[in-house]
Amino acid sequence: MEIYLDNAATTQMDDIVFEKMIPYLKDNFGNPSSAYKIGRDNKKVIENARKEVAEILNASPSEIYFTSGGSEADNMALKGIALANIDKGKHIITSKIEHPAVLDTCKELEREGFEISYIGVDENGIIDLTELENKVRKDTILISIMFANNEIGTIQPIKKISKIAKENDIAFHTDSVQAIGNIRIDVKEMNIDSLSLSAHKFYGPKGVGVLYLRDGIKFRKYLNGGHQERNKRAGTENVAGIVGLAKAMSLSYKNLEENNKQTIELRDYFIDEIKKNIEKIQINGDLEDRLPGNINVSFKFVEADNILYELDKRGIYIATGSACTTGSIESSHVLKAIGLSDVMAHSTIRISIGKYNTREEIDYTIKCLIEIVNNLRRLSPLYSE
Ligand SMILES: *Cc1c(COP(=O)(O)O)cnc(C)c1O
Repeated sequence: MEIYLDNAATTQMDDIVFEKMIPYLKDNFGNPSSAYKIGRDNKKVIENARKEVAEILNASPSEIYFTSGGSEADNMALKGIALANIDKGKHIITSKIEHPAVLDTCKELEREGFEISYIGVDENGIIDLTELENKVRKDTILISIMFANNEIGTIQPIKKISKIAKENDIAFHTDSVQAIGNIRIDVKEMNIDSLSLSAHKFYGPKGVGVLYLRDGIKFRKYLNGGHQERNKRAGTENVAGIVGLAKAMSLSYKNLEENNKQTIELRDYFIDEIKKNIEKIQINGDLEDRLPGNINVSFKFVEADNILYELDKRGIYIATGSACTTGSIESSHVLKAIGLSDVMAHSTIRISIGKYNTREEIDYTIKCLIEIVNNLRRLSPLYSE
């Protein structure tokens, strides 16, 4: 038996999405830039996908750029906006809990002479809005704050953040990779200038994503080469991937409330059961403003790596801290930012429930987790009952 509980790292592709992609992996192979029929046909397919994505976000098709995923979309947004606005300034504001796709891009921009302010969060991982307002300067050109966090699931007050950006005439980017497919997003109503998403986080294929960029936002071309994506991102389009992305996105929004209800029920049940059956645990992240499937929990006196290893042996797949830092001994920057000590951070696991998980899987995982934590604690010299 295998139980997959790491849906924040990636998701299993939906069969409907897979079926839809198959013709474009082989038979319908025309290059969308070619002038003849099989090229024009694929061009149409891409433009239809663009329209579908735009409609879901309440954007216009001219504001949708297909990329190779979330990381590229974040890089494209930050570098493209930063480099286009040098005449106005070189100051950027972001948060301490961003995904490495944003944080590492900021580090590179720092090396290129940009100045970055990293805003802190409270103990639940919510952005300090006062600090954000105080950090705004005349030369601030971009605010980049994620919609929902991949480790602790906390959802940010996006409308309040975008309001501060708008009032100060600053471009606002939000890494929405974890939010898409879980939260309805209206870029107009929410005043979002730029947003990234990635298909493999909502039951679509890996290696394809979107950058939404509001028309009129100053932007420097990101990838040089051909004239694809209205001359902003060169490269022959990933036709099958784009078809899969649009299908996965429309599916997830069609069944959003239903999927979320089931996921939240399983999540709350999981949390209740482990609270009842395992002592000295701590649930991290906001309990209200939280992604439906996210559970981030610390087990005092137990190494998270050992829990992962024991669950893995039983065919249950979860994460410690963040997938991107697995294998590194450094504590998660997100857990640090919400005030966890290094010791607690290393006792923390992330379980992310998705639409394919069942009550039986959750029950079995709870049973194993209780057994594993109790066993590991019995071996721990620090733990006494
Ligand atoms: C997964 C993820 C990314 C990176 O997306 P890829 O498509 O894997 O490159 C960026 N930001 C967040 C919040 C993510 O969860």
